[in-house]
Amino acid sequence: LTDINFRYRNADKLTLQNVSLSINKGELVSILGKSGSGKSTILRIIAGLEVPSSGSLLVGDKTLVDEACFVQPEKRGIGLVFQDYALFPHLTVADNVKFGLRKMSRKQKLQRLEEVLQLVDLVGYEKRYPYELSGGQQQRVALARALAPNPALIMFDEPFSNLDADLQLQIREELRSIIKKANITSIFVTHDQSDAAALADRVIVMDEGRISKIGTTEEILGRTCVFANKSC
Ligand code: ATP
Ligand code: MG
Repeated sequence: LTDINFRYRNADKLTLQNVSLSINKGELVSILGKSGSGKSTILRIIAGLEVPSSGSLLVGDKTLVDEACFVQPEKRGIGLVFQDYALFPHLTVADNVKFGLRKMSRKQKLQRLEEVLQLVDLVGYEKRYPYELSGGQQQRVALARALAPNPALIMFDEPFSNLDADLQLQIREELRSIIKKANITSIFVTHDQSDAAALADRVIVMDEGRISKIGTTEEILGRTCVFANKSC
């Protein structure tokens, strides 16, 4: 992101001001900051759900946004996982995961389904419906669905806030292991410093629409990623 400025239509001041940020391939970055500081808005800009008033966005060597161009959300190759998982309640696990794989043949879809279900440890759950799963399993289905199309980037917006404390701990370790295994670049928005400390290679702190701090997890939070030395 370079010099992104953005204002919601009915807002009286800029929601994002001169936001510049560079994330390396395979890196896991956490965005921390108070409620209303602009964390979700950054994800919305990257996903293509909002159009910045100025600035540019590149993923790899591909320009997604600048003064001359705007790539539509479905063409960006970016996965999003929200707080409420947003699984389709009337679709099975298999159909939820296959939803984003429209351009593949039937056989390729099935193969990819099994690959990602293996990654999130849910092989055997293909025919279940979301209501037949625990919160943590639903979370893993949402992750499998986001991973299935092989996104260049995957973004999480407070994905643990509906889970109890024990499950949060279990899932965040699994999450880091899964995305590091798949070597996917990721951005993780959270209110929770311990989530950021446990997960991230680098931390960004937002304050009133600006990036106020950016550094390694140790520099910003005084501790290193607790899972970083594991074989994940
Ligand atoms: P939270 O931690 O509560 O999720 P956040 O850091 O994700 O907060 P954003 O959702 O990015 O914050 O919101 C940034 C600012 O933009 C807030 O002041 C919010 O009220 C405002 N805002 C968000 N969505 C809209 C909208 N659709 N229209 C107008 N203003 C909005
Ligand atoms: Mg938010």
